[in-house]
Amino acid sequence: MSKKTTAYTTIDFEKSGKQIGFVDIPHSPHEDAWGRTRIPLAVIANGRGPTVILQGGNHGDEYEGPIVLGELVRELTPEKIQGRLIILPAINSPAVSAGRRTSPVDGLNLNRTFPGDHNGTITQQISAYINDVIYPQADAFVDLHSGGSSLHIMPSAIIEPAPTPEARRRNIEAVLAFNAPLTVVVDNNGESRTASAASVRAGLVTVGTELGGGGTVSPEAVEICRQGVHNVLAHFGVLPPRPVAPRNENRRILGIPGPEGFVIAPQAGVFEPLVQAGSWVHAGQLAGRIHYLTNPGQPPTDLFFDADGLLYGRRQPGRVEPGNCCLVVANEYKGKLQ
Ligand code: CA
Repeated sequence: MSKKTTAYTTIDFEKSGKQIGFVDIPHSPHEDAWGRTRIPLAVIANGRGPTVILQGGNHGDEYEGPIVLGELVRELTPEKIQGRLIILPAINSPAVSAGRRTSPVDGLNLNRTFPGDHNGTITQQISAYINDVIYPQADAFVDLHSGGSSLHIMPSAIIEPAPTPEARRRNIEAVLAFNAPLTVVVDNNGESRTASAASVRAGLVTVGTELGGGGTVSPEAVEICRQGVHNVLAHFGVLPPRPVAPRNENRRILGIPGPEGFVIAPQAGVFEPLVQAGSWVHAGQLAGRIHYLTNPGQPPTDLFFDADGLLYGRRQPGRVEPGNCCLVVANEYKGKLQ
């Protein structure tokens, strides 16, 4: 375990049974000179078996994961599992309390701060704690995301790209075991600062999700999350095997093709989408319009898809600024799957 962190927990990661508590990171703002930022943590351990990290609240406005992990913390008893669960239902707790993607403390997106910095801001200290203290204890990592306030995303399990065939195989098997309606590779254009990219670097089997979004709670997505977490824990052998329901769609793996998968606002205005999420679209098809509400003499600007595929994500707020992501298309994944 790293000696560099000032974070502290009363939870003993080596102890059997169920412990519910916090990781406390010293924090000294104006209103609390010797205070702590508290991150909820539960460890449930029984006998021999793998250690699986279950994480929610990486972004504070994505609610399905934290809801389902709260249920697990309350309901799961040690004798029901084999191995160890490290459950972090609200890892970026300041952002979760604020219902925001980014931290209200330092403005950072936790999922762009890995491997973190023990001498950095609170968000950087959280990612450093995960990277240096939590990951080395575990075999697998499940990071439960949704689309957040700005995006609706079709409920899906997410594959993080990995550098070796063996790591790819283990990740793909675990993500397919989640049994979401869709399976998508998301590489964030090669982004290396995410929790999932850091988890792959640490050698952990890595599973992601995108479960709805729009800053609200979808009961359907909560149920997909609940079933998926149980499915993946059964896959790892932490929970007993369970009969898996037939998949809602086929087992093909989609990916976001690159810049052409995104419809980006070229102007400020109000975006009107013209295609339903889940529809199949083609390059050149009219995707939506930007309206100029205070300049009615100016006709709207038409936006077009640049790729064929499934309309996978759509912007939630109507207002856009230049560069905002309006629509996301996923299609057959072209990268390495073996
Ligand atoms: Ca997210």
